[in-house]
Amino acid sequence: MLVRQGRRRFCLRPPRGLQFVYVHGKGLSLFARKTFAAGEKVIGMEGEVVRARSSSPEAVQFDEDHFIDTDRLVAGDFINHSCDPNMKADLPRRQFVAIRRIGKGSEITYNYLTTEWDMKAFGTDFRCRCGSDDCVGFVRGFKYLDRRQRERLRPILSPFLLSKLA
Ligand SMILES: [Zn+2]
Repeated sequence: MLVRQGRRRFCLRPPRGLQFVYVHGKGLSLFARKTFAAGEKVIGMEGEVVRARSSSPEAVQFDEDHFIDTDRLVAGDFINHSCDPNMKADLPRRQFVAIRRIGKGSEITYNYLTTEWDMKAFGTDFRCRCGSDDCVGFVRGFKYLDRRQRERLRPILSPFLLSKLA
């Protein structure tokens, strides 16, 4: 699939077991083409560790000042946020893992608030329309969650954000 970002074009191939689907209001999104069991790797996390100031909007936060990022578009950039996700980011292993069974035809999602401390500072905050009962409304970063919201995410937090809970 040919995707445009600004003046650059990228040829994207969906990873094994996944496919791209255009969703109205969300854009290109990733869906499961097969069933994934809880605990199974769904998609790898591509990229290198870069300093925060040179990171792109799609980067995943690794620690206070480092992000995992690529200088090109990759399939993982199209994983949408959900406040009730079916995957978690496993940063040490650089992959996204199913946290419950993901049925064939379901969108794969992870909660950006389990890795990102302050999205507002980078201008990547947004209004969430995931529709889940526990939707936080505005996704601005873990920093902006109250105690109860933070505790609820404990089992799926990145090591960096887990250190912020202590
Ligand atoms: Zn939400």
